[in-house]
Amino acid sequence: MRFIINIANQSLKQSDKLLGILAIILLTTACAKTIPEKGFPRTIIPSVDQFTFHIQHSPDSIRVLYLGCGHLIICYRQENIVIDPFFSTHGFTKSKLFSDTIAFQKYENILHKQHVNLKDTKSVWIAHTHYDHMSDLPLLLEKKQIDSTTPIYGNEYGASILQNFITPQQYHPLTKELTYNPEQPNSVSFINASPSISVLPIRSDHAPHYKIFGLPIHLMTGKLKTNYFKQNFIHATDTTSRKQWKEGCTYSYLIDFKTNNHIDYRLFIQTSASHYPLGRPPLDALRERPVDVAFLCAASSDYVKKKYPVNILRDLFPNHPAKAANVVWIHWEDFFGEPLAFEKACLVRMTNFKGLGKRLHKGGFTPDSTHQVMPRPGTVVTIK
Ligand SMILES: [Zn+2]
Repeated sequence: MRFIINIANQSLKQSDKLLGILAIILLTTACAKTIPEKGFPRTIIPSVDQFTFHIQHSPDSIRVLYLGCGHLIICYRQENIVIDPFFSTHGFTKSKLFSDTIAFQKYENILHKQHVNLKDTKSVWIAHTHYDHMSDLPLLLEKKQIDSTTPIYGNEYGASILQNFITPQQYHPLTKELTYNPEQPNSVSFINASPSISVLPIRSDHAPHYKIFGLPIHLMTGKLKTNYFKQNFIHATDTTSRKQWKEGCTYSYLIDFKTNNHIDYRLFIQTSASHYPLGRPPLDALRERPVDVAFLCAASSDYVKKKYPVNILRDLFPNHPAKAANVVWIHWEDFFGEPLAFEKACLVRMTNFKGLGKRLHKGGFTPDSTHQVMPRPGTVVTIK
């Protein structure tokens, strides 16, 4: 009790710091749980690397390669879009980060095995600028896996972080004019991500990382130091400090896959749990054409209002019986563990998966193995 009172008496900055230290102690001592055999997530695929949703809207299928955290490579007709490139995981106690060339070899092997060619990438989309959503993009650019002419879309900080790796016109900040805001609905157009793929960026937000004594702890927020990346992030394998990767604005994405003007498939991607209605696509667009599959973030889903994710699922699937909603749960694995420990993936620390399962069940979105899946990193989810 005295500790809590003392915290209350500190200046806001000092108490943030103290809680941050406490969060780190808790995180490093909290164990990553192995995947339970019963209870949510029952629908994890621990031992296969393919999963298919049968939608039957188009003769062509979408293939989505899940690579851990929010990293997805989405392929449609030899065109890819890349979301949140990250694969160099580090232990939580290590404050210095770097792109890991050994992890990159493993990453390349998975892409090769799953017949995904990064050179087909038509655009890259970064949901926010924490390191676990973008820190390996410089390595992909340096190794020419992603071309210097490929547009990159993201928040107000991305251009500064990437300044030593991109060409002058390559980065497109998602300004208010380009972004749908669910709190102040505005008229915006989809951005053409490739000849067959269009993306609507949506203003979203980011759940706190933890709660301690009921107080939300939100790490790596605040203003980015632009000079830090200019001076310290010159080569992709340079080490950077974890705390410099400031969050900035967060976005979710509504993505259409089209033949001429006809929408073959519609996906929704949200790589951080968000306070509803932030992150939600325009309701009229969803009524006209609901999504086929939603990709939602499991980590920190306890730390937004308790109706999440049922509230957003109801909007994304307005005409479906709830249990028929197709959901892929991502950002669920303990990425503080071994680098790319795909075979030994454990649940991310301090997220209450049972609670998430109960909320889904209560809202009618009871996870079953046909409609909801929590894929192991390295899995291809096919939508056809
Ligand atoms: Zn984040």
